[in-house]
Amino acid sequence: MKIFDMSPKTLSLTEALASYLVDVTLREAPILRALREATQSLPGAGMQIAPEQGQFMRLLVQLIGAKRALEVGVYTGYSSTCVALELPRDGLLVACDINAETSAIAQRYWKVAGVSEKVRLEIGPAEHTLTQLVNDGLSGTFDFAFIDADKEMYDAYYELCLQLIRVVGLIALDNALWGGRVADAKCVDPDTLAIRNLNAKVAADKRVSSSLVPIGDGLLLARKSV
Ligand code: SAH
Ligand code: CA
Repeated sequence: MKIFDMSPKTLSLTEALASYLVDVTLREAPILRALREATQSLPGAGMQIAPEQGQFMRLLVQLIGAKRALEVGVYTGYSSTCVALELPRDGLLVACDINAETSAIAQRYWKVAGVSEKVRLEIGPAEHTLTQLVNDGLSGTFDFAFIDADKEMYDAYYELCLQLIRVVGLIALDNALWGGRVADAKCVDPDTLAIRNLNAKVAADKRVSSSLVPIGDGLLLARKSV
């Protein structure tokens, strides 16, 4: 018998329940709402994290008392603004993206949100930026990392972020459920394979404790062990 047949399990959200969750529990800052609405008409809007996930990530950043954070995949800035809002005045978010155009939108919103001073935008392949941080001697100096860029590179980003965060620091990886495709054996495209393999790797990784949280498109959390 599979463990699933006999144990309590995570609820499947009906439309009504998903609406309830958002209607009753979402407390979205006006600037975040404005950014979400402004992004809706843009290509790639589906890449933005769900607002309830943004709220959850803000809570995570609060809980671990993060001061220095990394983001891989900024797009128009929704997740980075969530994180940056929770960093202290002297905090730092190193935000990595290859797209200068969408990053410029993010920069506009960081300004309005009053977090510009905390965010350092690095335009270029995130693998280069993160490797540079390691070479600059910054390993173990970050508290939190959010990974949400090209899926085939997730494993490389995970390894670099694991090096860059401190012990007991937290990595969050977006799209861990990948629209359900991770569980569909027929899906063997490179993105699905990359996420599926990394989910299994992190689950077995002795360097971290982890949980795949079914919020948004699935948020895989990995905390660096002592
Ligand atoms: N976290 C964002 C969504 C990110 S979408 C939000 O919540 O709104 C994914 C982003 O990854 C895109 O902006 C894309 O330009 C960026 N990206 C893709 N390949 C990349 C790479 N090699 N290095 C850095 N960023 C990359
Ligand atoms: Ca995403």
